[in-house]
Amino acid sequence: MTKKIDILTLFPNMVNAAFQESIIARAVSKGLLELNCHQIRQYTTNKQGKVDDYPYSGGPGLVMAYQPIADCIRSVSAGDKPYIIYVSPQGKPFNQKKAQELVQKENLMILCGHYEGVDERVLEEFIDEEVSLGDFVLTGGEIPAMAIADCIARLIPGVLAEGSAEKESHSGLLLEYPQYTRPAEIEGKKIPEILLSGKHDEIEKWQVKTAEERTKRKRPDLYEIYEEQKVNSQTYYFDNSATTRQDDGVTEEMCRTVKFLYGNPSSLHHMGLEAERKLTSARKIIAETIGASEKEIYFTACATESNNWALRGYLEANPRAGRKVLISSTEHPSVSETAAFLSKNGYQVELLTVDNKGIVDMDKLRSALTPDTAIVSVMHVNSETGTIQPIKEISSIAKAVNPNIAVHSDCVQSYGKLPVSAKLMGVDMLSVSAHKIHGPRGVGFLYVKDGIRIAPLLCGGGQEKALRSGTENLPGIAGFAKIAKEACGKLEEHNKHVKELNKIFREIITEEIRSSNIISNEEGCPYVLSVSFPGLRAEVIQHSVEQKGVYVSVGSACSSHKKDRSPTLTAMGYNNNIIDGAIRISFTYQNTKEQADYAARVICAEVKKLYGRRKGRK
Ligand code: PLP
Repeated sequence: MTKKIDILTLFPNMVNAAFQESIIARAVSKGLLELNCHQIRQYTTNKQGKVDDYPYSGGPGLVMAYQPIADCIRSVSAGDKPYIIYVSPQGKPFNQKKAQELVQKENLMILCGHYEGVDERVLEEFIDEEVSLGDFVLTGGEIPAMAIADCIARLIPGVLAEGSAEKESHSGLLLEYPQYTRPAEIEGKKIPEILLSGKHDEIEKWQVKTAEERTKRKRPDLYEIYEEQKVNSQTYYFDNSATTRQDDGVTEEMCRTVKFLYGNPSSLHHMGLEAERKLTSARKIIAETIGASEKEIYFTACATESNNWALRGYLEANPRAGRKVLISSTEHPSVSETAAFLSKNGYQVELLTVDNKGIVDMDKLRSALTPDTAIVSVMHVNSETGTIQPIKEISSIAKAVNPNIAVHSDCVQSYGKLPVSAKLMGVDMLSVSAHKIHGPRGVGFLYVKDGIRIAPLLCGGGQEKALRSGTENLPGIAGFAKIAKEACGKLEEHNKHVKELNKIFREIITEEIRSSNIISNEEGCPYVLSVSFPGLRAEVIQHSVEQKGVYVSVGSACSSHKKDRSPTLTAMGYNNNIIDGAIRISFTYQNTKEQADYAARVICAEVKKLYGRRKGRK
């Protein structure tokens, strides 16, 4: 806590006058704070007492010289190590948060500049922080120094009456609520009735409500931050396999691209080339994350497009490859519905069965593979259960039958969460979407191995090597590359954290609800936890926990609006009672352990209530 503030100035009388009265003067006389002013001019070594000189760069004005300031700082510090602030319009904006930070420093020194400022070498040698009162220029640093010293001093315990500094404007994110004093009515104007009610709870609610209203009206910039924090602090979002909250860094990257790189990457002028450069760099970053080369990455609008394109585009471009399409029986609709479309168009589609963990049965795969098989598509991580498919093994088995069989994998739920390497997995194509890893919606990519032919779904201006026409979504792609690099660079760290979150849910649920049935196997991807409460309906559980701010989903979000039972859980052999009571809890590394603990306990409490009601009805 600050005990001493030294102000170094050419005008000490000005500063001293300000602190002769009122609260700060009382704090000094009570010994709560030592406040001293020091005349820099006393430290000059020239006869004229000159503290300034002309700037080397020419131009008007004078610059405060190094020597007197340096000597003044050294003499005043006298062996102590004060935290030294220089007040200037170039500094970081001073605000209540900064004041709360600075009051933690025991010994503060504030240097007031004048004229054209101080010799730059003073800043390099002595200054810990440059602070500004705002984007305007004053005649000198004295007034800001006084304002800063006043603001810090009133935060020192004992200087103000207890509690006064806690609820005022800028102590949190809200401006202070309206204040009234006696009389209760003057010139026909009455104070709000609630303030005379004596109901403290109601008065507190009124204070929050009016503080919110006036912040929204007077400082919408502050209100936006407050609202975001309020929403986030009351939201326990565990539906991250459906989509994730876009990362703030991604939003900033996208805004920069929107503002400065709005040229069309196909244009030949400078702005087009700049946009093209950004596109190339994003493609390189994305390619590196899966060990591919840039020419193997094609940007799309989503993974649904990538999956459609992989299957339909491959079959169209390779008519002699065969008529048989193999997919697992647990694919996402963007694959299974594409397969259904192909089936209507004369292809023979076969669904590969899975075991009770959801893993493709390798013997069934072997027997399904025929010389007529053109493509095998199996997702890497199941979106409903987190089951990890052995893609490398599946690819090896298929390629052993016929090396020309194309292998595709939907890696939407594994990318950025588990290692995904096109080469190591042995796939010819793989699909990814940005919005599952805190990237933007409306961007995905399809990896197509060099040498694999694929026909376009969209024809037009010839973008993406004439295979996916349409002006590229550069802001989305830039945002995607940013988060892809971050997520893929921290796979292990994030995975370890998410495993702990997953464990918290597993332990609390199994301990609290004996009848619960954990569907996800422990060797699966920790980002998804499927759990069933047999006898209950998942939609009812979902809506009950939502009332407490907890968000989970029923099966996979993309298919949850459909009335059919989950094909994945059905394929795994679960009975309807278990399927109907299955909720999906899905994680992000941004979830905290506290959130996990709260959400797991809310789920258990609601499930107990629902079981209780069910019993009551019987
Ligand atoms: N594949 C899987 C496994 C998914 O979970 C999803 C979305 O939930 C998709 C594909 C579709 O992705 P997009 O929303 O980008 O079309």
